[in-house]
Amino acid sequence: MKCTRCGGRAEIKLRQHNAAFCRDCYVPFIQRQVERSISKQKMIEPDEHVLVAVSGGKDSLALWDILIELGYQTTGLHLGLGIGEYSDRSTDTALAFAQQRGLQLINVSLRDEGLAVDEATAFTNRPACSACGTLKRYYFDKLALDRGFPVIATGHNLDDEAARLLGNVLHWQVEYLSRQHPVLQPTHEKFVRKVKPLYRTTEYESAAYCFFRKIDYVIEECPNSVGATQLTHKHVLNQLEAASPGSKLQFVQEFIDKAQPLLRDDAGDSPGTCENCGMPSYSELCARCRLVREVTAKRERKEARAS
Ligand code: AMP
Ligand code: ZN
Repeated sequence: MKCTRCGGRAEIKLRQHNAAFCRDCYVPFIQRQVERSISKQKMIEPDEHVLVAVSGGKDSLALWDILIELGYQTTGLHLGLGIGEYSDRSTDTALAFAQQRGLQLINVSLRDEGLAVDEATAFTNRPACSACGTLKRYYFDKLALDRGFPVIATGHNLDDEAARLLGNVLHWQVEYLSRQHPVLQPTHEKFVRKVKPLYRTTEYESAAYCFFRKIDYVIEECPNSVGATQLTHKHVLNQLEAASPGSKLQFVQEFIDKAQPLLRDDAGDSPGTCENCGMPSYSELCARCRLVREVTAKRERKEARAS
């Protein structure tokens, strides 16, 4: 197998691109693909300082590395979620990446902020992923706003976006579909733009990118994701991809180009403001403040019973 670019010995084959690469050609190929996604979707202006949400996994570390290589000014943001040893390893990995390269990383522990994921799941009946998603979204918005960043980038990849799209289509979640886009423009003065520069990059491609760039990342999946429906959707989409290479990319890109614009009117009202914290909210209290209030009430009741 020969490298499509230089004719040397190829080390990786990308069936959806009908191409094969040696490692020296693969790395710039992926970087250029991401650059194209950024410019095609108008995600980031060249002079904007980007806040990159880094979990310690392959996608967000590859994203951070790619944005730096493309010449963007970046700062990392890591949230210590409080999901046992998995979170400790994730934090250590994100910190090591930043330290080895002399990069700026904002490291925030949700426990220090008042509520971590383990406490949220211990005191409520909510699924861990739902509480975790609520807290992550809230702190991404809040920290980007408080620190004055115009844009926050996450490492959501093509597999994530295709699985989410399949889930939304299976239930015809029109409102969710209307908001599924690699660029979310702010709908409230306290939101900043959110972008997903890896939305055309597969999990496999970002893992290979990390391997070739010698980036250490946390390989294990979040323990809370075991059995999650999204994994079933990813599995089904991988079978489809094996039978028909390129179908994942086509599914997502054609949705964005053809169907998503037709759904924009279904996006619902713009959010109001949370009475407690002042962040955007669709009800009196935002989702995070409701979660905190529920946990506080249940914790107090439990402590009262114990005393
Ligand atoms: P997930 O929701 O775990 O699939 O992660 C999707 C994206 O959210 C990642 O690629 C990161 O950009 C971001 N993210 C997830 N967990 C964290 C974290 N603990 N700290 C910062 N960013 C995160
Ligand atoms: Zn609030």
